[in-house]
Amino acid sequence: MRSAQGVYQLYIDGKWVNSISGDTFAVYDPATEEVMAQVAEASAADIDLAVQAARRAFDAGPWAKSTPFSRAHILFKLASKVREQLASLAEVEAINTGKPIVEAEGDIDAVAEVFEYYGGLATKIPGQVNPVSSDALSLSLREPIGVAGLIVPWNYPLLMAAWKLAPALAAGCTCVLKPAEQTPLTTMMLAQWFEEAGLPAGVVNIVNGFGESCGVPIVEHPSVDKIAFTGSTEVGKSIVKRAADTLKRVTLELGGKSPNIFFADADWEASIDGALFGVFINQGEVCSAGSRILVEKKIYSKFVEAMAEKAKTIRIGAPLDRATKLGPVISRDQYERVNSYIAIGRGEAKLASGGGRPKGFDKGYYIEPTIFYDVDNTARIAREEIFGPVATVIPFDSEADAIQIANDTPYGLAAAVWSRDIYKAFRVVKSLRAGIVWVNHMQPTCVEAPWGGYKQSGIGRELGPWGIEEYLETKQVHINLSEKPIGWY
Ligand code: ADP
Repeated sequence: MRSAQGVYQLYIDGKWVNSISGDTFAVYDPATEEVMAQVAEASAADIDLAVQAARRAFDAGPWAKSTPFSRAHILFKLASKVREQLASLAEVEAINTGKPIVEAEGDIDAVAEVFEYYGGLATKIPGQVNPVSSDALSLSLREPIGVAGLIVPWNYPLLMAAWKLAPALAAGCTCVLKPAEQTPLTTMMLAQWFEEAGLPAGVVNIVNGFGESCGVPIVEHPSVDKIAFTGSTEVGKSIVKRAADTLKRVTLELGGKSPNIFFADADWEASIDGALFGVFINQGEVCSAGSRILVEKKIYSKFVEAMAEKAKTIRIGAPLDRATKLGPVISRDQYERVNSYIAIGRGEAKLASGGGRPKGFDKGYYIEPTIFYDVDNTARIAREEIFGPVATVIPFDSEADAIQIANDTPYGLAAAVWSRDIYKAFRVVKSLRAGIVWVNHMQPTCVEAPWGGYKQSGIGRELGPWGIEEYLETKQVHINLSEKPIGWY
């Protein structure tokens, strides 16, 4: 996995290799700002090798003859390896991302579940017999799309990789996987166990590097059949444009500005808790973060006060401290970006709590949980994805008003509604233009249920049976049962 110089290498065609250029880049610990590893930096020539290996493995290698059962066994072995190594994977994930260790442990447990789920699903993808005329037999076969380019973000590094890798492998695809440049380490730990799990060389290749020099060559490579991407809406749009030349299939899970809607009749304690959890979990670096908190006017002032008071008690600390509930954000860039939005927010709205660097933290990209209120939905902090611990609280008058504000966004990933009135709650559920809607909760994510966005939050769905569909083609087969000539000429 590492060269003699201690550099984490690329994993191409079943081997650990340096990049062709010999270039490397540093990976940081966001709590200390120190370098935690050096990683080989891939560019177009390395991507070409990785894609060729994936192509060969798909077209002619043992993988091409693999059965759904054999693929299921590999996924189960990967799952048990992840469970066995959960503590070490979670520790590296927490240090590298800055997320609290308890959250990282939950993420890694979910990684194992994703491999288990798609291991189970691999043997349950039947084709179909189509009801055509009696002198023919018409079949629909489900076949893997081919070589899949998997491009992953830094907020849930191994989990987002697993969301793509597991269904791709279950379907029979081969892969070129690019972790985010900030967080490649746990994915490379996983790759150590590929051979032992029974994955033939070339089936999964891991390349590390930056968006333009490593991501773009995957998107543009003519031998890649499909791109699955999680990341910013801006990059998602550029991927659609670049993938158009070779008409690749594309699934995108992009940004959001998700509304978390609180009616006056909702359970009070659960609401305050849910408003904070919805936006501050994982330092707010969550595509589905409930970053627009819509509160009914009757309870609005009290709600803002209670949120601010409770936010001050959120334990900020080192990622490996088990009491920590909020760690540093991922990088200096992100720290500056979030702080620039806080500066914008000060001019657009009122500050209820936070807004600065927590006391006692001289190092690390720490930002206090920050709550703005009296935010107008036209404000930049209500429209643009901040991807950090910054909440915007917006008052509303009526059910219709709440729905109008909630849907007034270019995004449509997630939403939540809190009420004890099931008529009202379900009316709101049906009116929200979002791919995921929670009632009296925010953020639970289940591998069995579809995940993805409306509008500019993405294309396609991950997880559940929907997730594997994105890696399958459908082939129609028409079998003539009549022995007579067609007789046309
Ligand atoms: P974020 O803004 O959260 O860092 P990005 O969308 O920039 O998210 O990055 C998500 C993933 O996409 C990372 O692996 C990154 O390297 C990659 N990436 C960034 N730009 C491009 C691009 N133009 N084409 C393909 N991949 C890219």
